[in-house]
Amino acid sequence: MPTTTYRAHPFLEAARRMNLEVVVGSDFCKVLAEEWDVPLSLRLRYVSQAVDEIVDYAREHPLDAIVPVDDYTTEIAARACKVLGLPHNSPEAAIAARNKYRMREMLSAAGIWCPCFARFDLSLPVEEIALEQRYPCVLKPVLLSGSRGVIRADSPDGFIEAFRRIGRILESASDRPPSLDPDAHRIMVESYMPGREVALEGLLNDGRLCVLALFDKPDLLEGPFFEETIYVTPSRLPKETQEAVSDTVQRASTAVGLTEGPVHAELRVHHGEARIIEIAGRSIGGLCSRVLEYGLGVSLEELILRHALGQDVDGVDRNAQGRSGADRGTDGLDRQVEAGKNPGAAGVMMLPVPEGGLFQGYDGVEEAKKTPGVEDVVVTAKEGDMLTPLPEGAGYPGFIFAKGDEPGQVEQVLRKAHGRLQMRVKTVLAT
Ligand code: ADP
Repeated sequence: MPTTTYRAHPFLEAARRMNLEVVVGSDFCKVLAEEWDVPLSLRLRYVSQAVDEIVDYAREHPLDAIVPVDDYTTEIAARACKVLGLPHNSPEAAIAARNKYRMREMLSAAGIWCPCFARFDLSLPVEEIALEQRYPCVLKPVLLSGSRGVIRADSPDGFIEAFRRIGRILESASDRPPSLDPDAHRIMVESYMPGREVALEGLLNDGRLCVLALFDKPDLLEGPFFEETIYVTPSRLPKETQEAVSDTVQRASTAVGLTEGPVHAELRVHHGEARIIEIAGRSIGGLCSRVLEYGLGVSLEELILRHALGQDVDGVDRNAQGRSGADRGTDGLDRQVEAGKNPGAAGVMMLPVPEGGLFQGYDGVEEAKKTPGVEDVVVTAKEGDMLTPLPEGAGYPGFIFAKGDEPGQVEQVLRKAHGRLQMRVKTVLAT
């Protein structure tokens, strides 16, 4: 896991509950690592060196599984598993799941529907490229994530502006080490895909997809920027459409070569057809995995660890709670199940960043927490953090979690609770 990851805690917590012995491999500075007795410091920026470091370590201290805790480390984990003979995704799949262009190439080679797509160097003459496009289209950095730098353009002028803006985002990138990958300096252009957006969270076992949850995103995401807000599960889409979504994710996973572990896919549904926006070999971001726990009765991270250790996780899905415990096998997960209990609905709202500035806190957190149906309001931003809205910014200042009987009700609870929060931000004047 990179030292910057926000996923460390839920994974380490799950490992602690399962009594697992964990070695954290992270990009600690070597000197501090020795000083603090950190056994496995890895140069995560250099994939082959990091793989060698893991393999050398494993020769002395055999490992049962290697679990990447962030997008950034999926390729390293896949390569190290391959050398050590542990079950793994193909390293190419791990690359494709992070590289938006490579992913589209692999999907379309497998005959899976894709929008028209192309990739351009920042140095190319944007005025000429803009005239060749069909509108509306979406521009996005090939390698960034979290909707950062994703911009819709409706005209050549909008395209030129968006292209230059993304170029500035890629060039500034002071929060990331300079990348050695040429795609880090390239922009991908796709035709705009209309439709309602959904997110599927699943677990792959020997190539077979087990759907853990399908989330509706009830806010329209039509651009020009694409800020995630509300996720609610179960989906209110018709059953056949939900099946079309899982079927597409299954085919897309196979197409990019993802076979083991978590899969997170974003799709748009247009006239009942499910179309992939992206598919990644990782679990849902931020603190959102908590929403799955409400329905599964076991944390997503625990499932991922169980799967990585070769334990049986078949039959676990968010809707399985309605079945009797006996139906679910003897994998130790039965203890979580109350026979006949409806899992109900659950949702999360990623708190938006309407304006940039120095974060001072939220007023109304206690009132928001008291909204009936709200499980928790978690503010992750710290006072003094610099908040930047999309497309330049990244991350969310916090999350609202809610539960209820019906998805529509959960959506309303989240909106109501959000209405009770007022963000305090100090404007920073550029000099
Ligand atoms: P990231 O990995 O940075 O989140 P995505 O490719 O998933 O980038 O895009 C982020 C969001 O932008 C998507 O969830 C979707 O709402 C929107 N988006 C991206 N590509 C398209 C497209 N071709 N058509 C319509 N919306 C898109």
